[in-house]
Amino acid sequence: MKGTAVESRPDDVGSRRGSGHHPADAHPVRTCVGCRRRDRQSHVMRVVARPMDGQIVAVIDERRRLSGRGAWLHPDPACMDTAIKRRAFSRAFRGPVDTAQLAVDFQAYLGRLNRGPDSPPSSLKAGQHPHGNPMRTQR
Ligand SMILES: [Zn+2]
Repeated sequence: MKGTAVESRPDDVGSRRGSGHHPADAHPVRTCVGCRRRDRQSHVMRVVARPMDGQIVAVIDERRRLSGRGAWLHPDPACMDTAIKRRAFSRAFRGPVDTAQLAVDFQAYLGRLNRGPDSPPSSLKAGQHPHGNPMRTQR
């Protein structure tokens, strides 16, 4: 007969919930990887690198709740353009990062910013628009 071997398993190894101490929370300032300027955290968007299909893909972390290394970028096409040209994301994430999807998401993100928060969230993988937007003012 076996004795009562009660083992406590450290099951929660993977979940890092930093019940964080943030002493500098009063002025959260981040550096944009595009223009390299520092700005209020609320003025820049967070980008994180996520493993997807065997590669690392940069995605916008709109809710700022994804774990992992983050990069910060102004919601400005010029900053995005500069960041991609400089490979700033690969540098920020310490490795090659695919930014193709990020560029697509970024356009959608800007569209939502301009339209307000009442538009439904679009799925990240849908490459097709149900109907084109005739009111497009890009130029
Ligand atoms: Zn910037």
